[in-house]
Amino acid sequence: MTIPVTSEENTLRVFCDFDGTIALKDVGYHMLSHFSTVGNDDLAELWNSRKIGARECLKIEASRINASREDMLAFVGRFELDPSFKDFVRLASERCAPPIALSDGLDFYIDHLLQKHGLGHLERYANRAVFAGRSMTVEFPYDNGCGVCGSCKAQRIREIKRRDNITGQIVFVGDGYSDICAIAETDILFAKSDLRRYCESENIPHRPFETFADVSKSLFGE
Ligand SMILES: [Zn+2]
Repeated sequence: MTIPVTSEENTLRVFCDFDGTIALKDVGYHMLSHFSTVGNDDLAELWNSRKIGARECLKIEASRINASREDMLAFVGRFELDPSFKDFVRLASERCAPPIALSDGLDFYIDHLLQKHGLGHLERYANRAVFAGRSMTVEFPYDNGCGVCGSCKAQRIREIKRRDNITGQIVFVGDGYSDICAIAETDILFAKSDLRRYCESENIPHRPFETFADVSKSLFGE
């Protein structure tokens, strides 16, 4: 049976944050804190008060790491994805297009968790972790943007809109401060946690959500 597609649904393109959104918790934050030689409580304060951006934060976090890639992947294996994300990917793929993951975290743990859940085919953008034994540096392959983000989500959306000649509505699903740039490029914004509080304080229109089941229901009616 063919599922009817309304004209509105047919034009949607969905972009999703990873840490705290596709993944239930902030995997990158927990992982980098766990393997930091000095802890990262000082950075959490600077980040939450938005005194430093993701690029600066990641560089400092990476400089404090004493762990191999394998150590870190063994650690991140305990983190779960939103159980309704897989169904959301199926629905979005049927109704418009597969969602694209936009992260200001690191590529290797995102790929690991997406692949573990059979979602390795999803297009994703993130910063690149480079390992040398038990130390790590971060490269920013997608660094043309606001200069504060590591991989600016607004810039990624603009590039993909041009590349795919997208004229329909842009949907963004996120939870935190690294999603703020994306707001300017978004027509339908789903927000939870810090992003929701930010939208409320700045009077930015958004649809509150808790899980991708809420997003599915709101966008696709199921
Ligand atoms: Zn940005």
